[in-house]
Amino acid sequence: MLTKALVFSGPGEVSCREADIGEPGGDSALVRVEACGICATDLHILRGEFLARPPVILGHEFSGVVERGPDSILGQRVSVEPHHYCGVCKPCRSGRENLCTDRRAYGVNQNGGMARWAVVDPRNCYPVPPSVPARIAALAENVACCIHGVDRAGVRLGDDVAVVGAGAVGLILLQLARRAGAARILVVEPDPARAALALELGASAAVAPGDAPRALAELTAGELADVVIDATGVASAQRLALELAGRGATVEFFGVASPAERIAVSAYDVYARELAIVGAALNPGTHLRAVQALSWLELDAIAGDGVSLEAARAHLTGQRPVPAIKVVVDPWREDAAGA
Ligand SMILES: [Zn+2]
Ligand SMILES: [Zn+2]
Repeated sequence: MLTKALVFSGPGEVSCREADIGEPGGDSALVRVEACGICATDLHILRGEFLARPPVILGHEFSGVVERGPDSILGQRVSVEPHHYCGVCKPCRSGRENLCTDRRAYGVNQNGGMARWAVVDPRNCYPVPPSVPARIAALAENVACCIHGVDRAGVRLGDDVAVVGAGAVGLILLQLARRAGAARILVVEPDPARAALALELGASAAVAPGDAPRALAELTAGELADVVIDATGVASAQRLALELAGRGATVEFFGVASPAERIAVSAYDVYARELAIVGAALNPGTHLRAVQALSWLELDAIAGDGVSLEAARAHLTGQRPVPAIKVVVDPWREDAAGA
C-alpha cells in the first residue's frame, strides 16, 4: 500500500512523498500513525553517520491506532517499540539484546513512523493507557531509553545527581532520577527557558555550564555528584560531566556522540576517585515500564504540537527549525507551512 511519508534516500537527502510500505500480511499489524517524534538519531542518520538502509521511511518513535492485526491490540492506541534483535548473537543470548550485532529498527533500516501508515510486527506494539494522548505516547521510546539510563547509572535513594543538558531526554532523566530517590539534582543547561522548566520539573538547581562546578559544590557541600549523566552527546558537556563527578561516582554517557568524536579522560582520576564510566544504549526490556510511566511523567511541556511531514522535512534539513523541545510529527496534518 502507498502512504505519504518522509523518506531518507542517502546522506543529506530526505523527501516528502508517496512511498510503498507493502501489504500488511496475516502476521503483521497495520498502524494508523498519529504521532512520531524526531530525535538526534534522525539527524545522525541524515548526516550518514549511522548505518541506515536507504531508501527508508524515517521515524523510530511513534504511536498510533492498530487498524488491522491481532484481536489483543486491534483498535487500541499503541506505542511501537522500534527494535528487532537477531536472537542468536552473543549479546542476544546473554540477556543484553540492545548490544545485538545484527540489530534492525523501524526508521533506520526498516520503514518507520514518519508516515500516515506503518506495517509492523504486532509483538512491537505496546498498548498505552487510554488517558495518554498520541503526542505523549510518541515519547515512550525516549522514556524507555531513559529508564535504562537510570538503571545503568544505578541511581540510589539519597544520591546526588547531575544531569547535563535539559533537552527532552535530560528533562525525562531528571524526573526519573527524582522518582528513583535522588536527593539533590543539578541540571546544567545554557538556555534560560529550559533551565526554568528543569526547576519546575524538580531540579534543585539549574545553571549554565560555566557555573556548574561551583553550583554543584555549593549544593553538595563540596562532595559533588554520586551520579552524573550527560544527556547531550556533545564533547564539551561530556568533559564537564567528568568534572562534576564526586569520589566513587558513576559517569554515564547517555547522549549519542558523533562516532568520530574523542574526549580526553584522566586515567589517574578514574583510578584515584574510583570513577565508573558507563554507557546506556537503547531500551532493553524497559518499554513496558516506559508505557506505564507515561501516566505520571510531566511530558506536556516537552512534546510539541504535531507538525506536518513537510514541516518535519524543513526542520530536519535545517531550513526551518521547529521551536519545540521535542518536535513531534502529525503525519495527517496537511498544511505545507506546517508549524
Ligand atoms: Zn530516538
Ligand atoms: Zn543479536
